[in-house]
Amino acid sequence: MAESSSISSRDVGDARVCYCGLVANQFTATTPMNGGRRFYKCPRYESNGCRYWEWRDEELSPHVSMFIHKQKITVDALRQERNKFRKMVDDMVGSKAGNLNNVSALEEKVSNLELKLKQ
Ligand SMILES: [Zn+2]
Repeated sequence: MAESSSISSRDVGDARVCYCGLVANQFTATTPMNGGRRFYKCPRYESNGCRYWEWRDEELSPHVSMFIHKQKITVDALRQERNKFRKMVDDMVGSKAGNLNNVSALEEKVSNLELKLKQ
């Protein structure tokens, strides 16, 4: 980079370059007021990087933002439940005393949860 004296961030397609000259990382907010809203941040923001931080998306209506936030909470809960059942299935399959009926019932629950997650 020969002339990197620019103070403002530069646009590189959809990417942004922070004041350190690095391609900014992109994140998605999951807070109630900004559910699903994407933003850029300096890759070294938490360490000794610059303080570059910028929204990528426009502000959402509170209704839409809250809806996305609640969907995220639901998906996270379903994922946790799925992982719990997966572990139970793995434990049962691993155990010689495993009851095959319980295993298939749990496998069915896991598939149902996975279907819910895909909706
Ligand atoms: Zn930076």
